[in-house]
Amino acid sequence: MIIQNYINGVLQAPVNGKFIDNYEPATGKVYGQIPESDAADIQLAVDAANAAFPAWSQLGHMKRAAIMMKISEGILAALDAFAEAESLDNGKPVKLAKAVDIPRAVDNFHFFATAIEHFASESHFMEQTAINYTLRRPIGVVGCISPWNLPLYLFTWKIAPALAAGNCVVAKPSEITPLTSYLLSEVCIEAGLPAGVLNIVHGTGPSAGQAIIEHPEIKAISFTGGTATGKRIAATAAPMFKKLSLELGGKNPNIIFADCDFEQMLKTTILSSFSNQGQICLCGSRILIERSIYDQFKNAFVEKVKALSIGDPKTDVNIGAVVSKAHQEKVLSYIELAKQEGGTILCGGTAFQPVDERIKKGYFIYPTVIEGLPQSARCNMEEIFGPVVTLQAFDTEEEALSIANATEYGLAATVWTTNLNRAHRVAEQLQSGIIWINCWLLRDLRTPFGGMKSSGVGREGGWEALRFFTEPKNVCVKYY
Ligand code: NDP
Repeated sequence: MIIQNYINGVLQAPVNGKFIDNYEPATGKVYGQIPESDAADIQLAVDAANAAFPAWSQLGHMKRAAIMMKISEGILAALDAFAEAESLDNGKPVKLAKAVDIPRAVDNFHFFATAIEHFASESHFMEQTAINYTLRRPIGVVGCISPWNLPLYLFTWKIAPALAAGNCVVAKPSEITPLTSYLLSEVCIEAGLPAGVLNIVHGTGPSAGQAIIEHPEIKAISFTGGTATGKRIAATAAPMFKKLSLELGGKNPNIIFADCDFEQMLKTTILSSFSNQGQICLCGSRILIERSIYDQFKNAFVEKVKALSIGDPKTDVNIGAVVSKAHQEKVLSYIELAKQEGGTILCGGTAFQPVDERIKKGYFIYPTVIEGLPQSARCNMEEIFGPVVTLQAFDTEEEALSIANATEYGLAATVWTTNLNRAHRVAEQLQSGIIWINCWLLRDLRTPFGGMKSSGVGREGGWEALRFFTEPKNVCVKYY
């Protein structure tokens, strides 16, 4: 499978003619190649986007929405092929991609195609003097850069609002998971998206990604990825006064009070810990448990974790492969560190070595539960981003909050309690952009999405995204 760039409506090889290998994480084998694009390809994409901008931005929101609905329908029509491609590229179980990733990409296009039809700008009236109205116009050419963990899901979460608002886009998926964005370019061609409106350029972060960040004609950047990359991007883009939306890492607490609905909590905590091999920025990787139910939780949780099936993501398993060899090594190194830091491995703790010939060389890690680490341990402070969770006991609500807020991150938190007063009180004091009470990953696309502290700047979703991708201009009209 040779992947190509999608620039000016045409699938094409990179200007330098260079390609890099693409691996299937479940087998460890090269299954295709992707363009190793650089600044020359980004320049072609920016030129195409600039040329397409006047017509696209003036087409009118209804016509833009109609094309976006066709893209949504095109992804839905090929749902199985998209899900299999996502699993092949990322290592996640096909059934997860079918149930979550691809339907969500369908919804992202649908949601923003319809949202733009209701998007309105503000008006401020000054009694007997003047009226102000705010024009919200598209920015122009914008850059969207997304990570490998939820490839099409997060890619379309950025692209859809940018296009709906009338911008033209230069987008780069992670080089590790390019396949579904390539399939998306084929759907866009079939849907009749005008040439140059969306350009998908494949390649590495330091080359193609950096060229997007540095390009002076790309006026806004929407980025999702690691906090270290986010810092680098901000350092380059901020002096150019680019608009920036940064969705970064997390180290999310999952706080379990003794008065919770235990069965519901237990079932959901398995998912919030290990869905997508723990490679979701919203996974709860630090589980804080009220001491009176610590042993009850630990025993029940570990028993359930041990029962999770791990293996070929093409089959009906709970846990597939992690995304790459390098990532597998990074996660395993954190497990070693946890041992050095005094942690006890309650289950997992090693790579899974399959006997099945097809996946013998794949990158698998058993779901791992660790206890006995103080909050100050690196394994409780740094993002591991794999199937690894730690358990900590707390005695009081104040202590739970203090542990929960102790990291540099502030993306998401989950709270389990049936005490309504406590639920609201704790939610108010948690330093997180997203808080789930008695649930996890229950998403309404209209709500603000993003983190505080080192987890990011700005919010995505609903009006927040449409506001980000438009430039407000106040017009003040004085009358007599
Ligand atoms: P990275 O930061 O490594 O990469 C993210 C994207 O940025 C990739 O497309 C990457 O390209 C690209 N990139 C890398 N370097 C540069 C650069 N200098 N200039 C421009 N682009 C660059 O993150 P990961 O892909 O490893 O994703 C995991 C991280 O994403 C975790 O920290 C996770 O928490 C975070 N995340 C945050 C979410 C949120 O909503 N807050 C949601 C999902 C994930 P390439 O991969 O090709 O090198």
